[in-house]
Amino acid sequence: MTSFENLGLSQELLRALADLGFEKPSAIQEQAIPQLIDNYRDFIGLAQTGTGKTAAFGLPLLEKIDPEDKSTQALILAPTRELGQQIAEQLSLFSKYMPRVNVLSVYGGANISTQIKDLRKPQQVIIATPGRLLDLIQRKAIKLHEIKMLVLDEADEMLNMGFKEDLDQILSHTPDEKITWLFSATMPKEIKKIVNTYMYQPIEVK
Ligand code: AMP
Repeated sequence: MTSFENLGLSQELLRALADLGFEKPSAIQEQAIPQLIDNYRDFIGLAQTGTGKTAAFGLPLLEKIDPEDKSTQALILAPTRELGQQIAEQLSLFSKYMPRVNVLSVYGGANISTQIKDLRKPQQVIIATPGRLLDLIQRKAIKLHEIKMLVLDEADEMLNMGFKEDLDQILSHTPDEKITWLFSATMPKEIKKIVNTYMYQPIEVK
């Protein structure tokens, strides 16, 4: 039986998982985590909500954050405020024993001044909905030029909700050298177009 110990995670993350009562990795976690930790490559995960996909990308992402570097190193885009908050909650729990790693979520429908104030502090991981993120970029409240990892979560939902143009604009503010991890429940041709435009030889896991 595969355990989280076999997947290459640090003691800090293993302790947090034990506290959460996570005993055994789910199928997507078992396949994705070692690949994402070992490789510095683009990745596609075909997975629905409820499969444990947040930990599948969240744990390797936290593993790759440099706590000494205070710049924003990872950006996670999610289609809705609810999903963004869920991701942020899970990442905060996973990073419980990583006191120098800060996680912030920004989304529409909440006070933007508070978010701008929070963004003045170092936030190595930012989770955002596309519309609000673009607003914050245009107000110069957020800097994405140093991100090393980009996660597109529920990418098919983001396109269904009409975020394609926002996505294109957001991506134009990120460096070319970053790695992109895309998660989607389905692979319609619009997603394939995103993959072909923005990703390089991705590893694919179903
Ligand atoms: P997700 O698919 O990422 O939205 O996760 C669905 C739910 O399953 C969340 O509440 C997670 O906290 C939980 N979960 C994810 N992975 C595991 C695991 N390996 N063991 C137990 N619970 C898990």
